Amino acid sequence: MPLQDEPLSRHTSYRVGGPADFYTVIRDEHQLCGWVVLARELKLPCLIMGRGTNLLVADKGFRGLVVENRALDFAFDDTSHTVHAEAGVPVAVLARETAERGYAGLEWAIGIPGTIGGAIVSNAGAFDGSMADVVRRVSILDQAGQIRELTPRELSLGYRTSRFREKASRGEAILSANLSLAPESTEVLRRRMIAYDSLRRERQPTKPSAGSVFKNPPGLSAGQLIEEAGLKGKAIGEAQVSPKHASYIVNLGSAKAEDVQRLISLIREEIWTRFDVRLELEIELVGEWGNGQVH
Ligand SMILES: Cc1cc2nc3c(=O)[nH]c(=O)nc-3n(C[C@H](O)[C@H](O)[C@H](O)COP(=O)(O)OP(=O)(O)OC[C@H]3O[C@@H](n4cnc5c(N)ncnc54)[C@H](O)[C@@H]3O)c2cc1C
Repeated sequence: MPLQDEPLSRHTSYRVGGPADFYTVIRDEHQLCGWVVLARELKLPCLIMGRGTNLLVADKGFRGLVVENRALDFAFDDTSHTVHAEAGVPVAVLARETAERGYAGLEWAIGIPGTIGGAIVSNAGAFDGSMADVVRRVSILDQAGQIRELTPRELSLGYRTSRFREKASRGEAILSANLSLAPESTEVLRRRMIAYDSLRRERQPTKPSAGSVFKNPPGLSAGQLIEEAGLKGKAIGEAQVSPKHASYIVNLGSAKAEDVQRLISLIREEIWTRFDVRLELEIELVGEWGNGQVH
């Protein structure tokens, strides 16, 4: 039985977000398909969540069913250097496991707290690498209830975006992915990951967040613009522009989603007024916002 009125603040890296009407955790792709199909039959909005690390959930919560994906299976093919992973596998776990096996290509993902599914949706990346470099096939449950394989071309992976962020693909569930990697010495991979990890520790705030709130505008750094606008450290309620990295908004303890949203609006207005630059969101707003607005 799904949980009822489950606070999503317990399941998001921001530690904010009101209740989901229904909340369930799945352990394999068959269960994922089962719940998604049931929600459709009941005409219940359904949100598939990985680790909730790229989400700002409204204080009023989510009207419908939230399915947390804990499908954690993966398997290697040593002849082709590919790995097949269910969408609930954490990318950082897969980065470590593939490196230990002498497969290169996912080292950049060390320190990214989300799942393979979430990473495909936003084409997650760091240190000049991204999912687009390694994804070869993705298996989905489409809106008609059919399981289909998508090619990289069909995924439309771009800078922090993919087909799954387009309206036409709403409701598609990512079940698993096939990633193509390259042979490399485990020692080289280990050293690369240690270097990335220490860079992350230097730059990344430790307070709850959803990573970078804004995408970098072409040729510019969102963090730098925010800093130049004098907004580093600016707080609304318990939400603060991180004094360590201005593209992060952190939760100082008991922030409301509304605090974060108001700070986002203020930053966007200020950057538009000062620099004529429109900042686009990298994080996703979901749930029931003011005026019945639903994301
Ligand atoms: C401290 C910190 C550092 C971060 N650093 C980076 C970084 O360096 N680079 C980067 O790109 N991101 C970064 N992020 C953001 C985030 O971790 C990534 O975007 C991650 O890939 C999101 O995965 P998730 O499983 O948490 O997705 P969620 O936040 O749970 O979901 C994100 C979206 O994906 C959808 N989704 C998830 N799984 C599925 C599925 N199986 N089928 C269909 N839709 C699905 C959700 O519905 C939602 O729309 C960081 C976040 C934090 C908190």
